[in-house]
Amino acid sequence: MKTIGLLGGMSWESTVIYYQYLNRMVRERCGGLHSAQCLLWSFDFAEIAAAQSSGNWEKATELMVVAARNLERGGADCLVICTNTMHKMAADVGAEVDIPLLHIADATAPAIKEAGCQEPLLLATAYTMEQDFYKGHLQEKHGVTVRVPASDARQEVHRIIYEELCKGEIWADSKQTFLEVVEHELGAGADGVIFGCTEIGLLVSQKDFSIPAFDTTALHAKAALDFAFDG
Ligand code: GLU
Repeated sequence: MKTIGLLGGMSWESTVIYYQYLNRMVRERCGGLHSAQCLLWSFDFAEIAAAQSSGNWEKATELMVVAARNLERGGADCLVICTNTMHKMAADVGAEVDIPLLHIADATAPAIKEAGCQEPLLLATAYTMEQDFYKGHLQEKHGVTVRVPASDARQEVHRIIYEELCKGEIWADSKQTFLEVVEHELGAGADGVIFGCTEIGLLVSQKDFSIPAFDTTALHAKAALDFAFDG
């Protein structure tokens, strides 16, 4: 089994889920007392979120590069950035290490295509929904076109992510908001929903939707596990 290097803590609420998925998948696959071999770099998320909201992406990149190098030096065989948003600097981080970076969108696109979705709705932070680094990657590398909610809905989804989900707060009202956003976009042509933020699975699940849901946390963890055994 190869060693998975996790760039986590963004937020730790979702890193916990990655860790659980990885360990449970190894147990399912290997049985007995087997568990995932991994290294975790867990950021102080306040520092990262401050860099994001002030637009200081250079600082965020520097922090990520230092952490990635430390994981590589520690023996990681691959890098997994445990957040969709911080894939904004995936190329810059990946260029600074000699181990492969397993991109979250590369882990997600095959599931979307397999389900035959033409226009899945992307629910994510405003950075991910509004900038091109994620939507563009899906489009250019995988031919997957996504739709995003209207501006007011994007703001509310973003707020719920940072003010609630990243703090481990799960509220019924916010779940209702997510359901309404999806319902509205369903009427406008959405035929799938991408949980494009690694905390969204804390609030909603496939059971809540009549269309296919793509949980990037689960798909990314699965890709990491596949790498650990076959990559
Ligand atoms: N974990 C989230 C994501 O997948 C949001 C937190 C962050 O900005 O990294 O985008």
